Amino acid sequence: MKGKVYLVGAGPGDPELLTLKALRLLQSAEAVLHDDLVAPEILQLIPSSAQIHNVGKRCGKKKILQGEINYLMVALAASGLRVVRLKGGDPLIFGRAGEEIETLRRHNIPFEIVPGVTSAMGAAAAAQIPLTHRRASSALVLITAHRASEKDAAEKDAWSKLVASGATLVIYMPGQNYSDIAHRLRTAGLAGETPCAVVSRATTKHQRTHRTTVLDLHRSPQLAAPTLLVVGEVVRMADPAALVEGFVMPDVSKGNDGLRLPALFKTSLSQAPRLGTDKEPVA
Ligand code: SAH
Repeated sequence: MKGKVYLVGAGPGDPELLTLKALRLLQSAEAVLHDDLVAPEILQLIPSSAQIHNVGKRCGKKKILQGEINYLMVALAASGLRVVRLKGGDPLIFGRAGEEIETLRRHNIPFEIVPGVTSAMGAAAAAQIPLTHRRASSALVLITAHRASEKDAAEKDAWSKLVASGATLVIYMPGQNYSDIAHRLRTAGLAGETPCAVVSRATTKHQRTHRTTVLDLHRSPQLAAPTLLVVGEVVRMADPAALVEGFVMPDVSKGNDGLRLPALFKTSLSQAPRLGTDKEPVA
């Protein structure tokens, strides 16, 4: 008797963002293959009777190939088990679900896809950024910076078209080299003063948001992975209270009274004036 595979979205981190269906499937799973990005609190929902395999490619102890994941998934289902293939966010967004679906079809393994909250939505909620806005942006693009090669003319052209469309861009897997992305955005025609936000570990208790502009993006602090980059006028509406602590240079030490401020001190940007947030963005 054949089992079944469920390609399930675990959401961006907060276990309460799991769907009821994902929760039910996890609680009745006989085998779970999960990515690194799935929060430990979510893995705790899996019954102890289930086999659990970490097939994460990022922080997993050993490198695992997509072919090995496919093989394991098919073998477990073919032995009659209810298999949950658990992915961070939504399984159909930058989750290589396409390859897994092809494999399952090829082996005639029954499967079902259970959507999850993708991290772009989690990040937008965390930073209080409306991804579309009646006056600022009427389109949303989910894109990855990961594989794009700047030398590729078609790729360059694609970025220019996206920028010209005025859509809000949410860039998955932005990496740590923000200069590259900023350069690519500028080359595609985006104005340097366009606001953008780096959102780290959205919807977890470690979430952090840093707001800047495309011009200053390269000076952003290196926030902990996973991070997303949100680019567009809508970022002006980010909640200042959600912004990360940053380094701010004090003016100068005051007079001769011996009071010297430390050369560099940390302050919370949430105490800074609400720059731009009280203004409606211009369409
Ligand atoms: N299927 C996932 C995306 C997988 S690709 C989804 O729908 O969200 C992995 C990338 O997703 C990471 O490099 C990062 O850019 C983004 N990501 C995932 N979880 C995140 C989180 N909690 N906060 C910020 N970015 C996240």
